[in-house]
Amino acid sequence: MRPIDADALKATISKYEFNAPNEMYKQGGECVLNFYMPKIIDDAPTIEAEPVRHGGWAYNDMYLPNCAECSECGWKSSVSGDEISSYHYCPNCGARMDGGISDGINE
Ligand SMILES: [Zn+2]
Repeated sequence: MRPIDADALKATISKYEFNAPNEMYKQGGECVLNFYMPKIIDDAPTIEAEPVRHGGWAYNDMYLPNCAECSECGWKSSVSGDEISSYHYCPNCGARMDGGISDGINE
């Protein structure tokens, strides 16, 4: 399965130029592109999906220097030190933690 943005696809189709060997094929192709394809896209079944959230771990708490905090939800981990890098997703909000680890100084 590959979820797509239906609105973006419809916008792309509206800009698409149909190449055809003759005028009859061209008109037929443009009819399919401009009339049927948007309707087919609108009628396609949808899935329940949430956008992927991206975050990172930050050490911002001066009182708890080994406590990493999720940049997306603020959840604080009791996991200390280098162990936090093994958490690829925030256990609280599910953000994908591909934003690295910061010490909070450059934020
Ligand atoms: Zn989180």
